[in-house]
Amino acid sequence: MTEVERLNYDVVVIGAGGAGLRAVIEARERGFSVAVVCKSLFGKAHTVMAEGGCAASMGNANSNDNWQVHFRDTMRGGKFLNNWRMAELHAREAPDRVWELETYGALFDRTADGRISQRNFGGHTYPRLAHVGDRTGLELIRTMQQKIVSLQQEDFKETGDYEARIKVFAECTITELLTEDGRISGAFGYWRESGRFILFESPAVVLATGGIGKSFKVTSNSWEYTGDGHALALRAGAKLINMEFVQFHPTGMVWPPSVKGILVTEGVRGDGGVLKNTEDKRFMFEYVPEVFKGQYADSEEEADRWYADADNNRRTPDLLPRDEVARAINSEVKAGRGSPHGGVFLDIASRLPAEEIRRRLPSMYHQFKELADVDITKEPMEVGPTCHYVMGGIEVDPDTASSSVPGLFAAGECSGGMHGSNRLGGNSLSDLLVFGRRAGLGAASYVADLKERPKVSQSDVDAAAAMALAPFDPPGDGVEENPYSLHTELQQSMNDLVGIIRKSEEIERALEKLGELRERIKRVTVEGHRQFNPGWHLAVDLRNMLMVSECVARAALTRTESRGGHTRDDHPGMDSQWRNKLLVCSATPGENPVVPDIGIEVKAQVPLRQDLLELFERSELGKYYTDEELTSHPGSQV
Ligand code: FAD
Repeated sequence: MTEVERLNYDVVVIGAGGAGLRAVIEARERGFSVAVVCKSLFGKAHTVMAEGGCAASMGNANSNDNWQVHFRDTMRGGKFLNNWRMAELHAREAPDRVWELETYGALFDRTADGRISQRNFGGHTYPRLAHVGDRTGLELIRTMQQKIVSLQQEDFKETGDYEARIKVFAECTITELLTEDGRISGAFGYWRESGRFILFESPAVVLATGGIGKSFKVTSNSWEYTGDGHALALRAGAKLINMEFVQFHPTGMVWPPSVKGILVTEGVRGDGGVLKNTEDKRFMFEYVPEVFKGQYADSEEEADRWYADADNNRRTPDLLPRDEVARAINSEVKAGRGSPHGGVFLDIASRLPAEEIRRRLPSMYHQFKELADVDITKEPMEVGPTCHYVMGGIEVDPDTASSSVPGLFAAGECSGGMHGSNRLGGNSLSDLLVFGRRAGLGAASYVADLKERPKVSQSDVDAAAAMALAPFDPPGDGVEENPYSLHTELQQSMNDLVGIIRKSEEIERALEKLGELRERIKRVTVEGHRQFNPGWHLAVDLRNMLMVSECVARAALTRTESRGGHTRDDHPGMDSQWRNKLLVCSATPGENPVVPDIGIEVKAQVPLRQDLLELFERSELGKYYTDEELTSHPGSQV
């Protein structure tokens, strides 16, 4: 029998980014014991890296803003494929979640009259992003950690034990979820340092594991983002939706090669920065798509006036939603008008005084100075698209964040639906606060209602341990595969064949390659021992990356249209017949013992509620919907 440390909790939260921490706070406030597990150091998550801000229609910078405007912007950004109930809850609740952070001790930047300041971002009608310079995520995490410490102090007063109700397990990776009769019974993992196994016996698990970027070669994501939560959910029997929609952020660094992909915040454009090609032309005016015509400025003069007077001018097309800007940059580079290192120029130097740039964008100033030896107060930056965010994720109930597996909840980037085919900048921080809270609440209510807790079976524990240890014990047929080589091949294929612009032959080639890697992963071999062994950790993660990449590729092949973060060269237009269709991925055990088979099916979405439908003009909806879907709209009656 494998040696395993066993612990009992009411709720286990996997992931200590914003969604995870907000879920922990909520479940603990309902009186439950919570374990929070994270793959890297506590406090090191993508949430910390979020720069631009958190979208919430507080109306501080423009009193015309309200939840309905935010809802409309989010639906437009997602090209009306969003789960509308999630988009509604998000828009309604985001302001309260931001205020609540200030009650935990956060301090956002202020307007001159002392209200929370809000900045412009792509796709948002009004300045809406509450921010702390360009280090907003850091403040979010700092504050939620502080709240957790204060709850632990309360627990100490009551029980004499700081960790009586919240305990952090840092540098601990979960590799498998365990179930009994289809219900969650626990989570199994290992300590990164010692390689020893750990088992959490718990009836409720909240997945908050973030993104999948490490399956792509050029990405803003760091090493932990291997789609673990997506894959854990699939193997436990839950479903993924929208996996074809991957966001390529338009502005990642392109030079030097060692930092290619690192993010350049959209806040640079929000604060006045403009995109230019080698002819010094502000090319975004050429790329305003039909669906957004009329909403964006068509001259540089109007665009520049908009920064000072948003009520009487239209916004600059530099701030179109990310998918549009990323495709425009791609086209400029392809047309030979790109910068020396294969990107375009992002110029803030000629737009703001140096002192103002350093004050508003301190991290960007240092990032370029230290990594690329570029002074952004004097020269333009070179930028290009980078794989940044996955809109697809675990299918959840919008109100409770529960998946189709009883006891399994998901929130934040690893859940799907909220952002439709494309996420607006700033909507992730607000998403993880709104749905992190709802997931904590959902898990707490589930546990409170349970009559009997599911049990963990020893055979499941042994199977999870055997799967994790398999790379130390390859089949022994003389063929050994190196996890690093497989990872590099996977990243290259996903980047080249299922990247920003896709076509069927290329996606099919990617699927062939994934099939080959599925076979080769059976022979992945690692050297050494279980103590801090990055080769072994990667071998374990590879299994997840392969599953998730296959979901992305299969969904990308099936959706024969272009929408948001899915662009098909061979199906360039948006097709209204596809708008209400979700592609749902599931996993079933097949012949391959390491990577289960991935199935995909088409499912119709629930139609938009009538009062929400009526928030839009009939003429605008007509660009996305079929006429039949709009018969109940008042605009169709005249
Ligand atoms: P994360 O914050 O990504 O946290 C995931 C957690 O899961 C981590 O603790 C990780 O260690 C843990 N984990 C993963 N797998 C396992 C496992 N197997 N076992 C245990 N633990 C695991 N969004 C905005 O709204 N505004 C912005 O300004 C913004 N800027 C960004 C800048 C950068 C550079 C990046 C990369 C993203 C940015 N985003 C921004 C996106 C946003 O930060 C993320 O989408 C969001 O923070 C995700 O939060 P999360 O809580 O879902 O997960």
